[in-house]
Amino acid sequence: MTVLPLVFDAPRRTKPPRHLADLTREEARAAVTELGQPAFRADQLARHYFAGVTDPALMTDLPAAARDDLTAALLPGLLTPVRHQSADGGRTRKTLWRLHDGALVESVLMRYPERATVCISSQAGCGMACPFCATGQSGLTRNLSAAEIIGQAVAAAAAMANGEIPGGPGRLSNVVFMGMGEPLANYARVRKTLDALLTPAPHGLGLAQRSVTVSTVGVVPAIRKLTEEGLNVTLAVSLHAPDDELRDTLVPINTRFNVEEVLSAADDFARRTGRRYSIEYALIRDVNDQPFRADLLGRLLAKRLAHVNLIPLNPTPGSKWDASPLPAQREFVARLRAAGVPTTVRDTRGSDIDGACGQLAAADQVEGVPSIAVPVPGIEEGVALGAESDQG
Ligand code: SAH
Repeated sequence: MTVLPLVFDAPRRTKPPRHLADLTREEARAAVTELGQPAFRADQLARHYFAGVTDPALMTDLPAAARDDLTAALLPGLLTPVRHQSADGGRTRKTLWRLHDGALVESVLMRYPERATVCISSQAGCGMACPFCATGQSGLTRNLSAAEIIGQAVAAAAAMANGEIPGGPGRLSNVVFMGMGEPLANYARVRKTLDALLTPAPHGLGLAQRSVTVSTVGVVPAIRKLTEEGLNVTLAVSLHAPDDELRDTLVPINTRFNVEEVLSAADDFARRTGRRYSIEYALIRDVNDQPFRADLLGRLLAKRLAHVNLIPLNPTPGSKWDASPLPAQREFVARLRAAGVPTTVRDTRGSDIDGACGQLAAADQVEGVPSIAVPVPGIEEGVALGAESDQG
């Protein structure tokens, strides 16, 4: 297996066109004024955008003559759907999006009886180089802009509201940053996205803080920043090993911020929010699934405000690794629970459409653009996506 370098600085590419969702309310009002329109039109546009309305003809509260100009200037289409793939009787839907420069990303919408969750991407590719993750093995193409990230959630909210997912019209209730990319390596844009997700409608999607989950390999300074900024979103840490020796290999950022440092930053976050964080742990046969590692993890977490979410590994192409067999999974769960650590195992929504964690490697050729691997990360939630279960 090739060992990739850690990449924090995203390659610079041409910027996506300006979009309302990248601007503060004041900036949007100024932009509208520059177009010769009264500032309040910015609020009208925001209302349409967050309601999923992109067709100027439907913006009947705007003067007909100004609709096209305002839409072209502030609501350019940044995400073009290339295809949808459905599973679970249509209740799981993965969308492949093409961005303005041909980069590809995916999001996955999952409808459950009491909630609907979208898993969104924060980067095209990923620089964190985790060897078991298809996205990590593809390298980093670029950071997404805030509007490119927000647009994935807005599209999911619109799909729910329009009744595109079986079960009748509904509401998007949860967002997880478990698609492609490392959200905390694209902090400023993710921070803006959080604002848009949490701001009440009509100026945002109005989600509850605990219904939004940021999943990270453990970028410690960014976890600390999130803590200082007083965001009460749900935090998920991709641990995958309780000991530094193994974690250095499985999650290479561990060579910068080790297990103790990551958990201590997560503890401080949990102290602020008063809620458990989630530990993501992909069970890999004979790599990290041994009983002694379960015990080690149990001891590490017993006194912490944490919950473990075990994910049987979704094998990626070319990898020699496989999921742990069921008896090993059960033993691992039993040992963690015996240590007093709340533990769940994720079910695998969307694995038949390569929509499961780290699984997607859809190399697509899009009009003259070299093929870019689009591993989609996955998302599954289980019996409880630990990331949400007890908080959601
Ligand atoms: N970069 C962030 C979010 C992306 S992935 C992070 O690492 O947390 C969401 C989850 O899927 C992470 O916990 C990741 O480690 C896990 N994952 C990646 N590849 C996987 C695979 N092949 N099988 C199971 N889980 C995987």
